[in-house]
Amino acid sequence: MTKKRAIFLDRDGVINKKAKEHDYIKNWGEFEFLPHAADTISQLNKKFLVVVVSNQGGISQGLMTADDVNSIHANMQSELEKNNAIIDKIYVCPHYIKEMCACRKPEPGLILEAAKELNIDLPNSYMIGDSLIDIEAGKKAGCKTILLADTSAAREAKPHFTARSISDILYLVN
Ligand SMILES: [Mg+2]
Ligand SMILES: [Zn+2]
Repeated sequence: MTKKRAIFLDRDGVINKKAKEHDYIKNWGEFEFLPHAADTISQLNKKFLVVVVSNQGGISQGLMTADDVNSIHANMQSELEKNNAIIDKIYVCPHYIKEMCACRKPEPGLILEAAKELNIDLPNSYMIGDSLIDIEAGKKAGCKTILLADTSAAREAKPHFTARSISDILYLVN
């Protein structure tokens, strides 16, 4: 079976506004889409699987439950579907940094799990994120990487490309 190409999207700071530092989006009321997330995903759907890979360490810290996160994602997906934007699958790491799991970005575990389950062609896929750890995870998994931020800290990860906003990635992925 031919392998499929994917766009891996970080969630917070890419699809929705991120929470304040050290905080998490804990319920749907706190979730706010970023401009052009839906229409960009809808365009990506024509050529790629779209997979979300998200660290949600607030789960293991007890700030929210896995059900809370599932509920946010159900709402997010139904809102996106109204705009013909489909997320094929969402992978979440619930662990806190000190748990040293293999799935929390910058580790590539979520991407590798998706690649196995969905038969993804990693070298011809892209990881899109707004943080250093997204770029590191993408590179460890063997993907191309696009950084959606221009901070010096994030640039240290040496992404393959940088873009100012999610809609700009449409000019970079092919
Ligand atoms: Mg982020
Ligand atoms: Zn984890």
